[in-house]
Amino acid sequence: MALLSERVGRARISASAAAAQRARELRAQGLDILGLAQGEPDFNTPDHVIEAAHRAMKAGQTHYTPVDGTPELKAAIVAKFKRENGLEFKPENISAGAGGKQVLHNALMATLDAGDEVVIPAPSWVAYADITHYAGGVPVWVPTRPEHGFKLRPEQLEAAITPRTKWLMLNSPSNPSGAVYSAEELLALAQVLDRHPQVWAVADDMYEHVLFDGRGFATLAAVAPWLAARTLTVNGVSKTYAMTGWRLGYGAGPVELIRGMARLQAQSSLNPSSVSQAAAVAALNGPQDVVRERCAIFEARRNVIVPRLNAVPGLACEPPAGAFYVYVSCAGWLGKRTPQGRTLATDADVTAYLLESGVALPNGAGYGLSPYFRVSFAAALDHLERACERIAAAAQRLAARKDATREEMREG
Ligand code: PLP
Repeated sequence: MALLSERVGRARISASAAAAQRARELRAQGLDILGLAQGEPDFNTPDHVIEAAHRAMKAGQTHYTPVDGTPELKAAIVAKFKRENGLEFKPENISAGAGGKQVLHNALMATLDAGDEVVIPAPSWVAYADITHYAGGVPVWVPTRPEHGFKLRPEQLEAAITPRTKWLMLNSPSNPSGAVYSAEELLALAQVLDRHPQVWAVADDMYEHVLFDGRGFATLAAVAPWLAARTLTVNGVSKTYAMTGWRLGYGAGPVELIRGMARLQAQSSLNPSSVSQAAAVAALNGPQDVVRERCAIFEARRNVIVPRLNAVPGLACEPPAGAFYVYVSCAGWLGKRTPQGRTLATDADVTAYLLESGVALPNGAGYGLSPYFRVSFAAALDHLERACERIAAAAQRLAARKDATREEMREG
């Protein structure tokens, strides 16, 4: 009998984690690899948050807590939704877990039966499809188009929905494309959902505060309040406050769903770390200037790297409207030959070639839309500039297929 369950086979390793791991291995072998695969701010957690965590530990907040969050944390989350999103929730609508990822995991595990479908615009953060698989559901990828800003159109949503559809996953600003949905665009999608009462929606607002060019933020439950009864709004402190390692995320939605999620969490991690909960209270209730300052830094980096990537022959990208990723088309590299004589057939070949050229990046296939790769600009500017130089140098070393053939003929 096999040791590992069939379930383990359904738990995949994400493209960004795989790229980051490969970069670590190569660095351990002494190679100079610049990593642009990381999906986390390169800043530190603000001091006042660290100090609050220290005080909480000293005050004895080192014990088990209620499964899905302390009353203080739930109150801070309720206040955040009111202040920033105009959403009214009660503490029983809130569920906190070890990161937004655990909250999403709980939600899909609590609601999907075998064969239930989850509509996922492509490209999207790969965890949506992976957790769906793991929960026994079926991811239904819907490819978006660059000329639509990588945003799902209402008619595409309508066409993707079947009687088995349980969830629509919406993420704005988006990982990996940086797409940001306006209130009007969300409303148009809400009108489609109106016609399909069996479909619930996740609004993954994890990058809410990384928005560029003065854009405002819109979230589904606020734009279409009548859909709040079947919307789970997910957020967390990871990206907003540079707290990825603290593992603290939260969701807000109807009580029945929230209770189901807590029942599952009670059988896995139990409560999120008591110390992280105290830290999150400080982050959510404390001064928010640091959030705006860091967003401005991300925007300045975006403004540097997008033109540099677009200047590389064969690559093309639009400036992202939010989050800290650029989704770069490498269609112009396909069919070309590397100096080692390999033909680049897929975006996985492209990122393998870029890794040999000293830059670690996840490929677009991992996000459901090819041929692309994702560049994270959650890294210092000089690091980003050096990576762009390496990518440009890698482009110069590529030979067009017919040029290579001529070369071979000359050599022959
Ligand atoms: N949602 C999106 C779109 C993400 O990119 C991530 C992390 O990369 C998360 C949710 C989860 O973040 P965390 O589990 O750190 O809260």
